[in-house]
Amino acid sequence: MSGKSDKRDFIRDIIAEDLATGKHATTITRFPPEPNGYLHIGHAKAICLNFGLARENAATGAVCHLRFDDTNPTKEEQEYVDSIIADIKWLGFDWGEHLYFASNYFEFFYECAVHLIKEGLAYVDEQSGEEIRATRGTLTEGGQESPFRDRPAEESLALFAKMREGGVANGAAVLRARIDMASPNMNLRDPVIYRVLHESHHNTGDAWCIYPMYDYAHPLEDAHEHITHSLCTLEFENHRPLYDWVIRHCPVPAIPRQIEFARLSVNYTVMSKRKLLQLVEGGHVSGWDDPRLPTLSGLRRRGFPPEAIVAFCERVGLTKVKSVTDVALLEFEVRDFLNRTAPRRMAVLDPVKLVLTNFPDDRVEEVEALNNPEDKSAGTRKVPLGREIWIERDDFMVDPPKKYFRLAPGRAVRLRGGYIVQHTGHTTDPATGEVMEIHAEYLPGTIGQDAPEGVVCKAAIHWVSAAHAVDAEVRLYDRLFTEEDPEGCEGGLLACLNPDSLRVVTSAKLEPGLDTVDPGYRCQFERIGYFSADTVDHEPGRQPVFNRTIGLKDSWAKQKGR
Ligand code: ATP
Ligand code: MG
Repeated sequence: MSGKSDKRDFIRDIIAEDLATGKHATTITRFPPEPNGYLHIGHAKAICLNFGLARENAATGAVCHLRFDDTNPTKEEQEYVDSIIADIKWLGFDWGEHLYFASNYFEFFYECAVHLIKEGLAYVDEQSGEEIRATRGTLTEGGQESPFRDRPAEESLALFAKMREGGVANGAAVLRARIDMASPNMNLRDPVIYRVLHESHHNTGDAWCIYPMYDYAHPLEDAHEHITHSLCTLEFENHRPLYDWVIRHCPVPAIPRQIEFARLSVNYTVMSKRKLLQLVEGGHVSGWDDPRLPTLSGLRRRGFPPEAIVAFCERVGLTKVKSVTDVALLEFEVRDFLNRTAPRRMAVLDPVKLVLTNFPDDRVEEVEALNNPEDKSAGTRKVPLGREIWIERDDFMVDPPKKYFRLAPGRAVRLRGGYIVQHTGHTTDPATGEVMEIHAEYLPGTIGQDAPEGVVCKAAIHWVSAAHAVDAEVRLYDRLFTEEDPEGCEGGLLACLNPDSLRVVTSAKLEPGLDTVDPGYRCQFERIGYFSADTVDHEPGRQPVFNRTIGLKDSWAKQKGR
C-alpha cells in the first residue's frame, strides 16, 4: 500500500486545507472502539480511514491512535480488547506506541467535571432516572428544569465527591451538564455526564464507582490526546454541539474537530453488535468468528484476504449520504485479489470414480499442472495420475442436453493438465439409476496436444488420482440471510436466515499436498471456487478442513436476474 494517495473526499479536503493554512502542522486521528464486541467490516471502514490518513500524511508526522473507549464497566472484556488488536493488525495497520485506554483518563474527566461544577455549568441531580427521562421534553416541546438545577456549586461539589467515594447508591444521583432545557437539540437539555455504578472495571478495578457518559468523555479523550480530526459516523451529527460545548468549557490542552461521515452498511448482513450478539448467543452461528458473519474474525476464517477488505473500503469511499453497499462489491474485491494470487489446486467435492481401463494397474504418472493458468510465472507442480481417478459427478451425464460438452457416453474430455480420455462404458445402481463407476480409455500422446483426428474434445475437467487423494471435510458457506435487508424482514432477522448458508461435504477428495498446508492457506479449487484451510479446525498432517471463501462467479446475481 502506498504512502501518498490521490484519494479525494470531503474529509481529505478539510485536512488538506488545515495543513495548507497552517491550522495544523500535522494530523492526529484515532480509532476508538468500545471493547464490547468483535470488530466488523463497518469498523474496517473507520480503521482504513483513520489509519489511512496517518499513512498518507506520514511525511508531516501524522499518526493514528488506537484508543479503547472503555468507560462503561458493565459490557467490556479483555477478550474483546485482544480480538480488536489482532483484527487491526491483520488488516495491516499499526499504531506504533499510540495505544491508549480512555479509562486511564478517569482522573482528568473528574477534574473537568469539578471545573464545570465550579463554573456553574454542572450540578448533581438527585431525581430518579425515571423523573429525568420524563422531564426531558419531546422533539417539539422543551423539557422542564430539575429542582436541583440551581443548587449552590458547593453542594454539588460535596455530593459529587461523595458519589466518587462510594457513598451514593446506583441511580440515586447523577451529574448533569447545565446547558439549556429549552434547546431544540435534545442532547443539550442538561445531559447526564456522570452516573454512579458500583461495578469493577476491566482496567481500573474498583478504583472508581462513578463513570462518565460517552458524550462527555469522548471529546475529552480526543482533546487529551491532541486529536486534530475526530471522525465518526453520522448518528453523532446531533451530538456535535454537545461535543463542542464540552471542549469549550473544560480545561483542555487542544481543540479537536468532529467530522461525521456515512457509516458502512452492507446488504444481506447485519452489523450492529447487538444483532451479532443475538446470532452468536442464539446459536444461529458457531461464534463471533463464524465464517458467515461480517466480523473481521469471521471474514478472516472464511479466507477473505485483508487486502481485499481494504480495497473494498477504499472503493466504497466517503460521503455524508446514507446508503447500503452491495455485498457483491466486497465479493468482487475478494475474487479479484484471489484470482491474482491464489494457487490453483484440484479437488473433487462430489466424487464419482472413473477407471482408465487401458492404463496399467501399477503405473503412476506425474502430470505437470500449471499453478495459475492466467499467470505462467506462478509455475507448475507435479500431480500424480493413476488408473483410477475421482471426477465430479456432474462432469458426466448419461443423457446430456445440448451444449453439455463434458463427459458423456461415447464422448471425450480432457483431464486438466493431462490426457484426453474417451468414455467406453459405465455402471449404474439398478435401484436408483445413479452412476456408480465410469469407464474410459486414455489417448496416449495427448498431454499438451490437440485431440487426434476424429476425436471431439471441447472441455477440460478437474480430477484427483484415487490412490493419492486426500479425504477432506469441505464447508460450503453462503450468505447468512436470504433477504437484502434482514432487519426489515417480516418476522425479524431470524425469519430470513438462509437454510443453506452452510453445507458440509465430508467426502471431498483433494489433490495430495493439501493435507500439510497451514491453517489459513488459500487456493482456488479449479472450476469450483476459492477455498482456505480453516484457522480453527484444520491441522497440518490431519484430515484437512477447508472453507469455501467464495465461488468463482456471483451465483446470486444470476438468481436475481441481473
Ligand atoms: P455498532 O454500532 O456496530 O455496535 P459501535 O459504533 O458501537 O458499533 P464502536 O466500538 O463504538 O462500535 O465503534 C468504533 C468506531 O467504529 C467508531 O468510531 C464508529 O463510528 C466506527 N464504526 C462503527 N460502525 C461503523 C460502520 N458501520 N461504518 C463505519 N464506521 C463504523
Ligand atoms: Mg455505536
